[in-house]
Amino acid sequence: MTFSTSATQPGFFDVRMSGFRDRTEVAEVLRLLDARVRMLQAEAVAVPEASRRVLAEDVQAEVAVPGFDRAAMDGYAVIAEETFGAAQYNPLTLRIVGDSRPGQPFRGIVASGQAVRIMTGAPVPPGVDAVLPVELTREESGVLHISEPISPGRHIGRRGEDIEPGRIVLSAGRVLRPQDLGLLASLGVAAVSVVSRPRIDIFITGDELLPVGSKPDGCRIVDSNSVMLAALVQRDGGEPRIAPLLPDRREVIREALLASTADVLLISGGSSVGVEDHAPSLVVELGELPIHGVALRPASPTGIGFIGGRPVFLLPGNPVSCLCAYDLFAGRAIRSLGGRSPELPYVREQLPLATKVASAVGRVDYVRVRIRDGHAEPIAVSGASLLSTTTAADAFVLVPRDSEGYPPGEMVTVFRYDGPT
Ligand code: AMP
Ligand code: MG
Repeated sequence: MTFSTSATQPGFFDVRMSGFRDRTEVAEVLRLLDARVRMLQAEAVAVPEASRRVLAEDVQAEVAVPGFDRAAMDGYAVIAEETFGAAQYNPLTLRIVGDSRPGQPFRGIVASGQAVRIMTGAPVPPGVDAVLPVELTREESGVLHISEPISPGRHIGRRGEDIEPGRIVLSAGRVLRPQDLGLLASLGVAAVSVVSRPRIDIFITGDELLPVGSKPDGCRIVDSNSVMLAALVQRDGGEPRIAPLLPDRREVIREALLASTADVLLISGGSSVGVEDHAPSLVVELGELPIHGVALRPASPTGIGFIGGRPVFLLPGNPVSCLCAYDLFAGRAIRSLGGRSPELPYVREQLPLATKVASAVGRVDYVRVRIRDGHAEPIAVSGASLLSTTTAADAFVLVPRDSEGYPPGEMVTVFRYDGPT
């Protein structure tokens, strides 16, 4: 059950200070996101700028690579048949009539009894059909002495052996790797069509917050969510913009939201049902808030809405909740918008639990774990405000809604914050 109806009714504002009436299940939130979030349009980007971008269209080779038959070794281009019978005790000779170097072909046709000095990558001249590696030869006053035969076609890289024209070399949806850029360049491709990067505005609310770089001062704390969120957005292929800190003042937050032209809005803090929590009712006012309250610990005061069709995420101010709600929901939308896989971008592993994990039926639990001796060891303290529990952890486990938890030794899926090293 969602708030899709109640959120738009006048009585919705009563939710403040009266607690969440109902919490949407995680699986339902994901369904809503997948149904509502569409990939952004494509844009052309120069190949040197395209690393990690997502291809919007298949790339088909228009040319052959290499575009000519080329030597795969340094040596001599010969007519293979003319080396037949060569042996240590029966060396054969050929006359060297010129050179073929990379980019500087031999201009002529090789005739019977002749050979051309050739270097790796140089075009194989017409008339020959093999490259005799330099190790198998001796050159003396323009004469080549051959002590081993070579078979036709040896050490020649044929035109198109790397890429045949017409082949689909990279498919739409590909996250471009460094070697993909090299391949595109080799095909003479200057620019590719990639999915636009989602632009994400990050709004941090809270009267108690000091800007990043400040020292905590008395009861004022330093905003940790902006830098964390910006890094998460970057990881997910978005372009983050961190807005100046916002006070818990409805009008100021309202102006900031109205001025945003981003593809996704992230609002940290004030997402719950307290008197200072302006974000939920603002999103209702400016758009719609189909979800407010999720059956997820520690990120239950999460809201998801839309302003002008653009997703808005109300992320709890507690940093662990903020991280969890970002990863499960906001990140998913950002990844989808940018054409990436919506799934969590963490390496998964199956590991046995070192100790038990308790969970309540009816909600998903985000449990931080250390990995020790091949076991997942839940971190004892689990406060949503204790960010160091996520830095001490190696991974997290998601305990599903229907589970009461796991006994020690249970095999669980862990999501590693870093890949395995
Ligand atoms: P809120 O979600 O605004 O009710 O905040 C919940 C808790 O998270 C409070 O203890 C806040 O001080 C804290 N908090 C809110 N925003 C941030 C932030 N950007 N960085 C660190 N802590 C925060
Ligand atoms: Mg606050």
